[in-house]
Amino acid sequence: MKRLLLTTLCILASFCCIYSQDIINGHYKKALVIGAHPDDPETMAGGTILKLKEQGCDVVVVYLTRGEAGIRGKSHEEAATIRTEEGKKACEYMGVRLEFLSQIDGATVVTPEAYKEMENLLKKENPDLIITHWPIDGHRDHRNCAILVFDAWNSCDRASDLYYAEVMTGHQSLNFAPNSYVDITSVKEQKTTAYLMHESQKLVGEVTYYHDTMEAMRGIEFDCKYAESFIRQTNNKQ
Ligand SMILES: [Zn+2]
Repeated sequence: MKRLLLTTLCILASFCCIYSQDIINGHYKKALVIGAHPDDPETMAGGTILKLKEQGCDVVVVYLTRGEAGIRGKSHEEAATIRTEEGKKACEYMGVRLEFLSQIDGATVVTPEAYKEMENLLKKENPDLIITHWPIDGHRDHRNCAILVFDAWNSCDRASDLYYAEVMTGHQSLNFAPNSYVDITSVKEQKTTAYLMHESQKLVGEVTYYHDTMEAMRGIEFDCKYAESFIRQTNNKQ
């Protein structure tokens, strides 16, 4: 009997730690979704962006770089031009505004100037929700982006809710154990269309395989067909 009670309490405790669909519970007015490269916000949270938009939330997609190093055979300038246009197209399709910061793909840095730029962005936009990369990631730019966002969030008095999202888990995001889910079944197709607008990245194949699998796996965990998942940063003030 004692063991049954203990097991029940453990199960209840584990449920309490899941923030079910709390991102799309309708109370966020302004969201920043910040990724290192054009296509990261869309792959890690495109479904959630579309669901937030449905609720009337003002969503701003932020790219830390313009993907300068992301097209083989092209100069940084050429790649940046192509990928800037692709980012604009994807954001227009999702109905969101976009912002670019000034870092360079493959060479992002965590410096006093970079901290300040991110802090200034948060102060200017004043969001009540921020989504960014999970910091334990095989790609240095993703790690740097997460560190910069966390520091800026801290400097801004932790006034917004902060969530971390996953990209190509197992390959890029590592040790990702979500405690928040969003059912994206109704917008799964639109999400895929949005990130495939980054045509230069040739995402059909490896990336669609990773993200289709992740969305289906998170769907199984959350009892729906497709889901995106997140880790909610503790010590939010709200
Ligand atoms: Zn990336």
